[in-house]
Amino acid sequence: MTEGAAPFELASMIVAHDEGNAYSAVVPPIAQTSLFTFSDYDDMVSSYRGEKVRPIYTRGLNPTVRMFEEMLAKLEGAEDALGFASGMAAISAAVLSFVAPGDRIVAVRHVYPDAFRLFGTILKRMNIEVTYVDGRDEAAVDKALPGAKIFYMESPTSWVMEAHDVCALAAIAKKHGVVSMIDNSWASPIFQQPITLGVDLVIHSASKYLGGHSDVVAGIVAGSKEMIARLKAEAYPYLGAKLSPFDAWLLIRGLRTLPIRMKAHEASALAIAQRLQDLDIVEQVCHPGLANRLPTGLNGTSGLFSLVFREGVDIRAFCDNLKLFRLGVSWGGHESLVVPGEVVLQQKAQPNSAQEFGIHARSVRLHVGLEGTEALWSDLEEAIAVAS
Ligand SMILES: *Cc1c(COP(=O)(O)O)cnc(C)c1O
Repeated sequence: MTEGAAPFELASMIVAHDEGNAYSAVVPPIAQTSLFTFSDYDDMVSSYRGEKVRPIYTRGLNPTVRMFEEMLAKLEGAEDALGFASGMAAISAAVLSFVAPGDRIVAVRHVYPDAFRLFGTILKRMNIEVTYVDGRDEAAVDKALPGAKIFYMESPTSWVMEAHDVCALAAIAKKHGVVSMIDNSWASPIFQQPITLGVDLVIHSASKYLGGHSDVVAGIVAGSKEMIARLKAEAYPYLGAKLSPFDAWLLIRGLRTLPIRMKAHEASALAIAQRLQDLDIVEQVCHPGLANRLPTGLNGTSGLFSLVFREGVDIRAFCDNLKLFRLGVSWGGHESLVVPGEVVLQQKAQPNSAQEFGIHARSVRLHVGLEGTEALWSDLEEAIAVAS
């Protein structure tokens, strides 16, 4: 295990290389083009033979997308990275690159609901079995892993926010020769760099903190050159869920403020979680920062957590009386958001992960945005007064 870089040193890694741009524009131009032309026959044939690497067609290689991939690889301490059209495209391409019919995957319980549904539908039809373990139970992980092809992690997990010792879990996967991957969207590379903890592949929904402005749906996978080459060989070109140049450009813009945004989300969310924990009408607050210590390798906490209200609290009134916290899924942007568990439990999607995850009917998930701690706290206090 190597030491991860401190959050604010990471800021210096977020520098877009602008050499060669017209007048060295500080914001890199977008290569908003589907294809690139050749100067002559020899130029074309040498590219096709692979004698030189240059963009030919944007589904394969695009300079703006490549710039974002290189920035993210650096932030994660990875050799390489590959951008995708969504977080789910990144998850499906990573998983499908390492399994065949008859294989088994072990996943921590409570993974992101659509990842759970991918496993329970398409993978199931392909005769790929996914078994779930409590990621906090290292003995159970050790017992489940022999013979599996992938160990799929997410820490902390969606909604109930179970945080794992990623370093220990990665070592167990390595011992059994199982490829390990983790969804690192919640912590971002600012607070957790799983590659430095021994994980093989890191996946992000870049739609969340990496983009940071609620205006992009995108994904990325980072890892060793060898692992990323495996994705590049088949799943990336043939499933074809390519990150668009404009979205990559927006993500480059987003990365520039990532370290300071994460610090601000952390400070506000932690302060609010602590105050909520002290209220009589709150039964439980699920926020990893409220534990005595964070797991090894998790160096901070983000803006997303959940809480369970005591019986009798009018959750509809709570939601409808919030002004800054708006009802909406996703997270990672400027805006504060609320999602009531009782609404998620009514979702029609199959398999229904809400039940599987033990989402409490009296829970709500909050994303603490960047509007300011005291303004957000007043908003919560006023809604709680009406609801209790
Ligand atoms: C949103 C999300 C995803 C899926 O990403 P998309 O960009 O929406 O496809 C995956 N994992 C986590 C933890 C998420 O929050």
